[in-house]
Amino acid sequence: MSEFQQIYDNKVAELQAKRIAAKERTEIDTEPTNKYIDFYCKQCDEDMRLLARKGYTRYRGGRWFYRAFCEKCDKELIRRLTDKKNDPYFAESKRLRNDRKKYWKQLLQRNDPRFKRVYGDWELAEERERENELRTNFDNK
Ligand SMILES: [Zn+2]
Repeated sequence: MSEFQQIYDNKVAELQAKRIAAKERTEIDTEPTNKYIDFYCKQCDEDMRLLARKGYTRYRGGRWFYRAFCEKCDKELIRRLTDKKNDPYFAESKRLRNDRKKYWKQLLQRNDPRFKRVYGDWELAEERERENELRTNFDNK
């Protein structure tokens, strides 16, 4: 058994014991993986890529997740595998937040009210382009 696995197992056992004592939902641990997964620790406000393990909880009809522990504060970190779309990571991650700040113009959708302000009136621009094209085609005939 690797040292990582030993440390990890101890932490999970500790968590599990606490949860059982508190009569919380029971979790079934966990499949070893060799995957490094992106996590975000709220407490440290930091993104980190960590060796994760797969876990399963009977909570709400059964859910799979990745679990790791923060390198700095030891907090349990979770990424959802079931219901990925609603993984809080996407809203919380500092790296993703910064990316969104950096690329917000590129990420703008056309129906966003800010689109016009950033790109001008694209409908008008496109129409002009079409007109120019038609004119060019006509002139070339
Ligand atoms: Zn932390």
